[in-house]
Amino acid sequence: MGLGQGPGRDHLSASPAGPIFDAYHAVRARLPRPTAGGACTPVDTLADIADRFDTFLLDAFGVLNVGETPIPGARDRVHALRDAGKRVLIVSNAAGLPHAALMEKYDGMGMGFAPEDVITSRMALTNALADAPPTRWAAMATSGAGLEDLAPTLLRDDPAAYDAAEGFLLIGSADWTDARQALLEASLRAHPRPVHVGNPDIAAPREDAPSREPGHWAHRLADATGVAPVFHGKPFAGIYDLAFARSGDAGRTVMVGDSLHTDILGAQVAGVASALITSHGILRDHDVAAGIALSGIRPDYVVRTT
Ligand SMILES: [Mg+2]
Repeated sequence: MGLGQGPGRDHLSASPAGPIFDAYHAVRARLPRPTAGGACTPVDTLADIADRFDTFLLDAFGVLNVGETPIPGARDRVHALRDAGKRVLIVSNAAGLPHAALMEKYDGMGMGFAPEDVITSRMALTNALADAPPTRWAAMATSGAGLEDLAPTLLRDDPAAYDAAEGFLLIGSADWTDARQALLEASLRAHPRPVHVGNPDIAAPREDAPSREPGHWAHRLADATGVAPVFHGKPFAGIYDLAFARSGDAGRTVMVGDSLHTDILGAQVAGVASALITSHGILRDHDVAAGIALSGIRPDYVVRTT
């Protein structure tokens, strides 16, 4: 099954806002409700709104990079904002890699972020579960590195591992398969247990075709089993609380991202301004105005490029 083709979504027809937009739109009942939103003021780059904010929260995929490739001009923009005295943080639905590995990627792009200035949905997940009672977790994850506190069993192809778990963590889906998803859904149907999602993204833009992220599988299992997953990361509040704890203040802050349903909706939930990047990520080559109208998620600014 591809994006937007989960159970119960066969009625879905393609919109001019593109397939990733459509996949989010199909699950909007599980997302926060949009506010009245912003004016969708068009601007060319983030330089045009730099004077209006002290803190820039930047999404990564679609704003700084596409897959492993930096977006042209993004590195220079980050440095120019910092040189102008702005606080610049990454706020990313990234959960698959331990923090040090993620930092290697950004260091390689010359972005100059301190590890503390990169706030991830993995942190939101681990922070939310830090005080949970001891639980036998099992995880959709490529590796257990950095997850020692939760000590999950890594889910592979043994059905017994699914049935033995007391709760599930959906963290990284790089080597997840339809067969493993079927094992998870069968186990949950027989015995419903909590499911925590460390990355609510349904898809991430890559160089060739979008990848299926943990959110894709979470919505699919919710459709199939009736279990309601708990999401950690944009557009839900916890990740923003971590960002504000780091920036020290939610005032004069703008969230910049390419996804209406995660970045812009998340900014509304967090009570900060929002800027939608249109040239690189989810809405690239699609009808941005149609996406805004269909979703009812209205950013303050519509920005051509970072
Ligand atoms: Mg993005």
